[in-house]
Amino acid sequence: MTARLIDGKAIAAQIDEAVGHAVGALASAHGTAPCLAVVLVGEDPASQIYVRNKVRRTQATGMRSLEFRLPASVSQEVLEAQVRTLSLDPDIDGILVQLPLPDGLNSNAVIACIDPDKDVDGLTEISAGRLVLGKPGLVSCTPTGCVILAKETLGSLSGAHVVVIGRSILVGKPAALLFLAQDCTVTLAHSRTRDLAAMCKTADILVPAVGRPEMVRGDWIKPGATVIDVGINRIANIAKGPDATRIVGDVAFDEAIQVASAITPAPGGVGPMTIACLLTNNVKAACSRRRWDLPVGFDF
Ligand code: NDP
Repeated sequence: MTARLIDGKAIAAQIDEAVGHAVGALASAHGTAPCLAVVLVGEDPASQIYVRNKVRRTQATGMRSLEFRLPASVSQEVLEAQVRTLSLDPDIDGILVQLPLPDGLNSNAVIACIDPDKDVDGLTEISAGRLVLGKPGLVSCTPTGCVILAKETLGSLSGAHVVVIGRSILVGKPAALLFLAQDCTVTLAHSRTRDLAAMCKTADILVPAVGRPEMVRGDWIKPGATVIDVGINRIANIAKGPDATRIVGDVAFDEAIQVASAITPAPGGVGPMTIACLLTNNVKAACSRRRWDLPVGFDF
């Protein structure tokens, strides 16, 4: 068997397009487009690339995008004051603080300054509580993207056994809750899980979110399973030269593709979905805060 590729890039592009239509409709109905504020602290090259991509795709949909860059030397107090100001600004619909913050800054305290109704990354305690209780709210983007990819691939997920590997606040835990809300049976595995390979082999849908290159081998995968690989790991690419690198997921792709029925590539799978879901969250935040009706058909 050779698995079919789940094209996260193409699905994300469709979502971006739908967001663009929604933004156009909202702007003509209300005279203004939703606005996303991104806060970037320090000079971390990866964070700068992520923020550049987020800003570019936000603007491409017609949404307004504001960027706040602060030096790595910024004090906790000044950073928190900046985020509180954005929370209070009625013209801003979504706030994203690019993580990780430089050493010495307390990200939990900064996140606590985000108005939960503008929490487009779904990181505040209120957002987490709403997710656990099944109430409407903003949910973190990467896990939302995973569920969309699984539904695009399989249709109904009801009754499927999902094994999520990783229990982070950003990915693993919300992914488990989102799959549970789709009536899946969910196992949340982590670094202390016994016989992880055997556990993974019971999964109809396997969602590794660990950060260990190619940890999940082909013989960990149940034949015919769907694999949604969240991992993004940069490794040496000796064939291309001593300093060259390449991106791989948490799954040994060349082995997995022989066993699974569908699999996301890395890059080009979950990654593009994360920004697409950020954009949908910003539209949802704007409509909810401003008491605008969501455009017809906008059901992400
Ligand atoms: P964290 O480091 O916060 O969490 C990693 C999780 O993996 C932990 O729960 C840890 O378990 C678990 N883990 C570590 N080692 C093992 C092991 N040997 N066996 C089983 N579980 C293990 O990472 P994130 O959740 O933030 O990110 C995970 C991956 O997803 C990374 O590669 C990251 O780059 C990628 N990512 C991709 C995104 C995208 O847009 N595609 C967005 C966000 C993240 P324990 O809790 O027991 O320590």
